[in-house]
Amino acid sequence: MINSKNLKVIRMNETDQKLKEVKDNILKCDKCPLKKFRDENGYFPVVGQGNHNADIVFIGEAPGLNEAKTGVPFCGAAGKILDELLEYVKIDRKDVYVTNILKDRPPNNRDPEVSEIEACLPYLEKQIEIIKPKVICTLGRYSMSVIMEKFDLADKLDSISKIHGKEFGYKEMKIIPLYHPAVAVYNRDRKEELKKDFEILKKYTK
Ligand code: URA
Repeated sequence: MINSKNLKVIRMNETDQKLKEVKDNILKCDKCPLKKFRDENGYFPVVGQGNHNADIVFIGEAPGLNEAKTGVPFCGAAGKILDELLEYVKIDRKDVYVTNILKDRPPNNRDPEVSEIEACLPYLEKQIEIIKPKVICTLGRYSMSVIMEKFDLADKLDSISKIHGKEFGYKEMKIIPLYHPAVAVYNRDRKEELKKDFEILKKYTK
């Protein structure tokens, strides 16, 4: 018999299945040179991690070395800061979804190239479409620019120092640009600003 609990399970299975398809496509994608770089170095693609029905999705720039070695997003120094910030606002990392604009590490952590962003963006778009978050938090200026342009907010784009922590609406969803956690590794002021911005997220937790 189908009741609301069963429906929830069916939806969860559908979501998991659709996200698995995205993962399978990323694994075999060779639309940019980063796949070759991944294979040559024995790295993993960093698809994303967390709750497949999350209300909040965090989007960073691209995996770093630790992430490429493990396939886990934000598992290095910046990830430690992200964990601290989530803990500060009492949000369990397991309840959010964390991913990046690029799913593969660029050599020497160089900035993503436009062609790489264009090749990778369809996977992120699919992830967002499947998860249907209430809020997207962009981490850092690259993610901010790409996501705000994608969601028709290009006219609201400004320097991250001006618009971090502000909420921008796109249909039912909010986009909140945040500083990249890496900027807080050695900068106490930035960490305080990040903490203040994270406070906004409390209202989006169930
Ligand atoms: N920086 C990012 O932007 N993403 C990661 O996953 C790790 C560090």
